[in-house]
Amino acid sequence: MSGLRVIVGCKRVIDYAVKIRVKPDKTGVITDGVKHSMNPFDEIAVEEAVRMKEKKLASEVIAVSCGPIQCQETLRTAMAMGADKSIHVEVDAATYENLQPLHVAKILSKVAQEEKADIVFTGKQAIDDDCNQTGQMVAALLDWPQATFASKIEKANGELTVTREIDGGLETIKVQVPAVLTADLRLNEPRYATLPNIMKAKKKPMAKKKPADYGVDVGPRQSILKVEDPPVRQAGSKLDSVETLVTKLRDAGLVPS
Ligand code: AMP
Repeated sequence: MSGLRVIVGCKRVIDYAVKIRVKPDKTGVITDGVKHSMNPFDEIAVEEAVRMKEKKLASEVIAVSCGPIQCQETLRTAMAMGADKSIHVEVDAATYENLQPLHVAKILSKVAQEEKADIVFTGKQAIDDDCNQTGQMVAALLDWPQATFASKIEKANGELTVTREIDGGLETIKVQVPAVLTADLRLNEPRYATLPNIMKAKKKPMAKKKPADYGVDVGPRQSILKVEDPPVRQAGSKLDSVETLVTKLRDAGLVPS
């Protein structure tokens, strides 16, 4: 099972450390002038794909990002981490706000077919929309097996043995390639791109495409009605004794009297 061709979905999202602000008209969140980075789970997927290449399990790692022109920075980061080449599927900023997992899944599955990929690797979820749908939809569209929430991936007897993080434990499954994998947090610790590799990445090939090149209509299938901030946490207070605490809790009906 050498020479696997691996496609990795790399979404550009608002950086995980940024405090999100809702637009005054509540139609979405403010993205202008806000730091963006590669979705953290996608960095983990890129890292794993690059490790597969280093172990001679994969022959080529192709990073794909659908979104506005700035996604090219995300792809350069993926290539600086070790991806061989990349494909930018350009979607303008307004369309990107309504780009949905099904759109991306259709694009990734077409790319997988064109590139004769053996593995489509995505993050388990994008930290902006928290959908956790794209990888699963790619598997359905391609009719490939899927191993989601992967925290360990090994090659055994021509198959992949994947440990999955599930509620309260771990599940180990075998999948045959071609397959879809989605990366969970504990799969690995992504490397930092070194300066020489950042320089090298500038010369790696990046194909520029549009959704129409893959025959995908990215017209919205749902509309956002409202985006709201989480409720503001009430200020706490200090009490001088456990008795006062119990009385307060009883009065508030939070413990039986
Ligand atoms: P989601 O289903 O939106 O939570 O996204 C799950 C994963 O799909 C992400 O971690 C990415 O690997 C991939 N993905 C989602 N949107 C995009 C995009 N616009 N471009 C490339 N990959 C994406």
